[in-house]
Amino acid sequence: MKKHNFFAGPSILPDYTVEETVKAIQDFDGTGISLMCMSHRDKSFDAVMNKTVELFKQVLDIPAGYSVIFLGGGASLQFAMVPMNLLRTKAFYVNTGTWAQKAAKEAKLFGEVDDTTVSSKADNYTYIPKGFKIPTDCDYMHITSNNTIFGTEILNDYDSPIPVVCDASSDIFSRPIDVSKYGIIYGGAQKNFSCAGVTFAIVKDDLLGKVDRAIPTMLNYQTHIDKNSMFNTPPVVPIFAGMKTLEWILQNGGVKEMEKRAIRKSTKLYEEIDRNKLFRGTVREDSRSRMSVCFVMNDEYKDLEAKFLDFVKGRDMVGLKGHRSVGGFRASLYNALPEESVDALVQAMKDFEKEN
Ligand SMILES: *Cc1c(COP(=O)(O)O)cnc(C)c1O
Repeated sequence: MKKHNFFAGPSILPDYTVEETVKAIQDFDGTGISLMCMSHRDKSFDAVMNKTVELFKQVLDIPAGYSVIFLGGGASLQFAMVPMNLLRTKAFYVNTGTWAQKAAKEAKLFGEVDDTTVSSKADNYTYIPKGFKIPTDCDYMHITSNNTIFGTEILNDYDSPIPVVCDASSDIFSRPIDVSKYGIIYGGAQKNFSCAGVTFAIVKDDLLGKVDRAIPTMLNYQTHIDKNSMFNTPPVVPIFAGMKTLEWILQNGGVKEMEKRAIRKSTKLYEEIDRNKLFRGTVREDSRSRMSVCFVMNDEYKDLEAKFLDFVKGRDMVGLKGHRSVGGFRASLYNALPEESVDALVQAMKDFEKEN
């Protein structure tokens, strides 16, 4: 039984990831033991950890001087870990949505935070601020590359005089990025990488060790770098599943091909949103996300929203209801979503227009 899966997160993963993980849960690598029941200290899991880190570096072409670590607590714990590990006096937060705001809130516990100079809050986060000057008196700049809730995306890597910290939870692996332009890139796994339960962080090694505060062992990036993400028991199943997603990305042409697919899929859908008299997009055209496509019904058709959700449900589509702070609809077009699912949605929009 197959559905067109547009959920925002946890969300669609490659069939390959799911099938390989199911196999490993039954019998891990021919050991006769389930992956769920295997000691993380066994060399068979050590190999998984090393391979996952290696593939992660390969897929994103991560230069020397960076560590890839896997943590618990979701992207939400990174909102606190980042300032705890990096913030000495002041940090600069680009405020492009709910997640950016949540990140800034945690940072304020550790120092001064400027999260108002560059913000699209006054316009309900309908665009990505552009052309701003990055302050040089801050310890780092924090950005949210894809605003999962509002449907805007930063598609460039900033040339910044201060380290850039990026929450890339919902668009990691969807385009090539120049990792050398970042200090830290982090994200929850459950959108483009794996199932829920693991958090990835790409950390520039020489950024660490510069704050005076005491950092609890588990919240110190250095702990996890030194122990290859095995200071404590790592989430073995999500890491294994993530390894399989990385293999799938490589088998499918890498992040360059993921980007091509993302452009193709999102362009198709935005074209239909713009063409169809029932619908309109909610964000400015120059800020549109390729991963999180948000749209609503035009005012004169607002009362058809529930009917449209029913209509697409009848065509085996799930996860299209918009986030409550935007309303309407959101189609998440993650890497694993096949183009046929976008075609099915576009067709449903056309047919619904005809019927109404
Ligand atoms: C989903 C999401 C989060 C929250 O992730 P958790 O792992 O649930 O903490 C944070 N930031 C962005 C951009 C997200 O899409």
